[in-house]
Amino acid sequence: PVMELAERTKGSYEFMEEAKKVMPGGVTANIKHFAPYPIVMKHGRGAYLTDVDNNQYIDYLMSYGALMTGHGDEEVKKAVIKQVEEDGTWLFGTPHELEIKMGKKLQEYYPSMELLRYTNSGTEATLLAIRLAAAFTGKQKVAKFEGHYHGGYDQMLVSVNPSVDDAGEEDEPKGIAESKGMCPSTVRNTVVLPFNNLKACKKILKARKDEIGCVMIEPVQAGFIPAEREFIHGLRKITEELGMVLIFDEVKTGFRVALGGAQSIYDVKPDITTLGKAVGGGYPVGMVGGKKEIMMMSAPAKGADVFDSSQSKASTANEVLFHSGTYNGHPSILAAGLATIEILEKKSDEVFSLTTYLKQRLELTFKRYKIPMKAVGVGSIFSVVLTDKKKILHYRDLQNTDLQTRKKIDIELLKEGIYTKPLNRYSLSTAHTKKEVDETIKAYERVLSKISSHPA
Ligand code: PMP
Repeated sequence: PVMELAERTKGSYEFMEEAKKVMPGGVTANIKHFAPYPIVMKHGRGAYLTDVDNNQYIDYLMSYGALMTGHGDEEVKKAVIKQVEEDGTWLFGTPHELEIKMGKKLQEYYPSMELLRYTNSGTEATLLAIRLAAAFTGKQKVAKFEGHYHGGYDQMLVSVNPSVDDAGEEDEPKGIAESKGMCPSTVRNTVVLPFNNLKACKKILKARKDEIGCVMIEPVQAGFIPAEREFIHGLRKITEELGMVLIFDEVKTGFRVALGGAQSIYDVKPDITTLGKAVGGGYPVGMVGGKKEIMMMSAPAKGADVFDSSQSKASTANEVLFHSGTYNGHPSILAAGLATIEILEKKSDEVFSLTTYLKQRLELTFKRYKIPMKAVGVGSIFSVVLTDKKKILHYRDLQNTDLQTRKKIDIELLKEGIYTKPLNRYSLSTAHTKKEVDETIKAYERVLSKISSHPA
């Protein structure tokens, strides 16, 4: 029999008691916590994680999608070691070759990124994208979608996971601050839009066309709820007409829904794209790229160099757009990222078809137990959504699904050695094979037979 979770994970409990003496709540990011305590891992390899009690799990969290070649990939590891050994240092503090090499590679898959900059996280990438848009349009307000995440800062931590009761009408959502300590005037500067509702978006955007400088969107919400084709093309058109910069945040979808991201699937050219996660091969990274004339806002002032006092004068006079970062374009990280892309060029199709197989088999399994379920997702990411609705179109649809049962299933799966953070998505990697996927389906079978009132 499968041991109770508390019994299996005693070591995690003890670890977390110690961790609480070091970090608030024992975690260094609140999302890493779940009740009653998170499972603490000590080893990862390929598709597997091992916790401090030596329980082994097939990992579908894949570090929130960041690992698309699994844990400890040999090629990625070699690329990092090679960079350090050949270059001698792992941080030049000057321009270097890998910045160009990675840039050209990205432009192959994301031709919309005519020029680009590197950052250290997806958060920093979306921050820079917003500043570029404001500088380019001269309009300070930003628009985002209900349920979309772009980073934990004041402008964007608005209506990411609001209680639907507080969040206004479906076609005119209210901006809800998601954290204590956020600046109310910054929150008021953010306009919230309903995803996959073109008519309502047009109305809101038109009414505030003189204030809104950019519209930022996850073209596939949270990596799994796709925009309707008509919606995303309509959004492209209306933002162009109203003089707003359209930003595709592809931090999660980049390389994961397709090598060329969601923009390659929809055949839409955003003005700015942000990337992160998978393209860092598991190391911290972000990228911002887009139209030349927008990206050039961040170029150094003309003719300025360190010996020219006009450079400092120019920045204090706000004549240039400030963008900096000690670690931007970190050589070891770009080496890891380039190695990752090379692997994905050969193997991403296999990951996508394995994901499709898992989705189909899971839907069949749920059907046999008469639990309405949809495996919603694109490419290598999906979520198990317990609903009999035909389509999940946005945040509120998702809130209306059976999250309680989903959570119960997820906890049972942990006992079966299938890992994702409860209620989270599934992200596959090149390290997952049919063996892991078939074991996963069998584990689901056992769990559903336990919780379902309908024997299959
Ligand atoms: N944008 C999206 C779409 C994301 O999914 C995330 C991370 N979950 C971010 C931005 C922020 O990226 P990071 O955690 O690297 O700062």
